[in-house]
Amino acid sequence: MNPSDFFPYSEIAKDVREILLTPEQIQRRVAELGQQISTDYVAQDLLVVGVLKGVLMFMADLLRQITIPVAVDFIAVSSYSPEARDKGFVRLVKDLEIPITGRNVLFIEDVVDTGLTLNYLLRNLRARNPASLEVCVMFDKPVRRLVELPLRYKGFDIPDQFVVGYGLDYREKYRNLPFVGLLKAEAF
Ligand code: 5GP
Repeated sequence: MNPSDFFPYSEIAKDVREILLTPEQIQRRVAELGQQISTDYVAQDLLVVGVLKGVLMFMADLLRQITIPVAVDFIAVSSYSPEARDKGFVRLVKDLEIPITGRNVLFIEDVVDTGLTLNYLLRNLRARNPASLEVCVMFDKPVRRLVELPLRYKGFDIPDQFVVGYGLDYREKYRNLPFVGLLKAEAF
């Protein structure tokens, strides 16, 4: 399928060389995840926490597929920098507004690669003593994992390549693509 088919008038779709996941594939999987989460947490207190900004599309779609009452909050971390990431550094630029102590927390992440970012964030959240803490990740790149992580819910395994779209950026561009794809070399 041609990237421009999804976004016929879009300049940014022209920078994409390959679509990995179409909007339909993504929506189908998000619906399954939403059903699973709704079943698992039925009649329980649930606080859904997303990590900005990459999670914005996934979070918006997933929340609409969850059929039980939930509270929603966000944290934000500093943007993608391979050097900082390799050292396991993550800068929290926006903290939670809702206290999580004693609550069931479902942490929503867009993509897990080495796992260092998520590991850092989970340690930070665990220190606040939630009643439970589970992870739902949309895209997993298991090949480069450096730390074992408990991923209770997962959308897709994807190859060890840099992807954009569906909330994921390259230098703040391409978040608004409705699919997940790979960029042409000249777009970097
Ligand atoms: P990790 O710490 O697991 O190696 O990296 C996780 C973070 O790196 C993600 O939250 C995301 O910001 C960024 N990242 C990893 N892989 C990709 C990718 O393929 N595309 C984009 N846009 N960001 C990525």
